[in-house]
Amino acid sequence: MQYDIVVVGGGPAGLSAAYSASKLQATTILLEKDDAVGQFVRTSGVSWIDSMKTLGIPEKYYNPIKNYRIISPTNEVTFSGEVARSCVLDVRATYQYLASLAVNSGSDIMVRSRVNDVISNSSRIAGVKARTPKGDLEIRSKLVIDASGFSSTVARRAELVPEWKRYGIGAEYECFCSEVDPQTWTLMVGSIYSEAGYAWLFPISKDRVRIGVGVGRPESRSDPLKILNELIEKRVKPLNELSKLQPIELHYGLIPNEGCVRTTTHDGLLLVGDSAGQSNPLILEGIRFAIEFGRLAGEVGANSLSSGASKESLINYETTWRKMIESRVNSAQRVQSRWLALTDEQWDKEIKILKSISEDEFLDFIRADFTTSKMLRLSLHHPQLMARKLFDMVLGR
Ligand SMILES: Cc1cc2nc3c(=O)[nH]c(=O)nc-3n(C[C@H](O)[C@H](O)[C@H](O)COP(=O)(O)OP(=O)(O)OC[C@H]3O[C@@H](n4cnc5c(N)ncnc54)[C@H](O)[C@@H]3O)c2cc1C
Repeated sequence: MQYDIVVVGGGPAGLSAAYSASKLQATTILLEKDDAVGQFVRTSGVSWIDSMKTLGIPEKYYNPIKNYRIISPTNEVTFSGEVARSCVLDVRATYQYLASLAVNSGSDIMVRSRVNDVISNSSRIAGVKARTPKGDLEIRSKLVIDASGFSSTVARRAELVPEWKRYGIGAEYECFCSEVDPQTWTLMVGSIYSEAGYAWLFPISKDRVRIGVGVGRPESRSDPLKILNELIEKRVKPLNELSKLQPIELHYGLIPNEGCVRTTTHDGLLLVGDSAGQSNPLILEGIRFAIEFGRLAGEVGANSLSSGASKESLINYETTWRKMIESRVNSAQRVQSRWLALTDEQWDKEIKILKSISEDEFLDFIRADFTTSKMLRLSLHHPQLMARKLFDMVLGR
């Protein structure tokens, strides 16, 4: 079997790469190990409406959010906006929509097709081996796009990257519940929720909500599912405000948290999405980057085919995505390291301080939108507060 481009992984990064590559007439196949695109949800699906609009994701695939509540052991703050700026995605429907874009632009997709090895030709990647419903296949290609998420299957098999050492691990129930405020999402911080991470309550509609716990490795060895079960059983605040919670799905997943440390271009290979470590470390969100950089990877990849998809011909991908997020991710990592070290008392104080900033400032912050001008404005508006300290921290001073 021969294609111009093989995409490994049918998450948002791979589906978006397949879409833009086939749109540029590259013959493209995407291999997904699960039985369906979006079969297992491994994410909470929080994102931002402006990003979804820019990426062309239809409104029917997300629940808009305009209030943001943060709860610490003895304190809390709610930021309320005039208009909804965040959203919670219907993850399965969104991924299947991304799959429809890929297929309509000419890409092939094979489900239940697990890539288990790479084909190398001297030092370049020349295709993959996969176990598929059509038997064991060797698929040769000019370019492989590794969009296999946390496992980075192709790059690991080719011994180009080590295992992730710092990562987040999350467990979440999607529940029916009749008293959900569909416009408010909640983050819970402090040791009862997670000793190195946070818990969350993200509504998808007025009677459906995702409740989860995330834990940072190696800072903590605790099991997020065990904590989640305890929080629900004991109805720890804010779960005590809800009616009967009936879980109907369990989601579980891992996300790298090492920042932009990996080289993402090699001869015949691109890494994108979680495989490349492209996420915002503050709340470990990566869907918008996976879609955006997936499209970029497909585009640069298709345009590189006439030059043999050499590392040099792919370099535009690496420089572009780094320019867009690297400094923000580095800043966010400094803030995250500080947050991970906070005690319960310090979290209570942090919430007190957060009360003095606006909804806009909070959202810029949580989205890791740390442009110098925004940080300067924050610092000037709140000279007496931690903003000055944050400003220095974000700039690494
Ligand atoms: C608990 C948790 C909560 C999160 N919450 C949010 C959130 O609220 N908002 C947000 O934006 N981000 C969130 N994220 C992060 C987000 O899910 C990822 O950044 C995003 O899914 C990355 O997309 P991807 O396509 O790179 O990888 P993935 O979504 O992981 O997709 C990879 C795909 O590759 C397939 N695959 C893997 N190995 C193989 C193989 N060998 N052969 C074939 N197929 C293979 C997998 O089955 C999967 O379908 C969360 C992550 C976790 C773990």
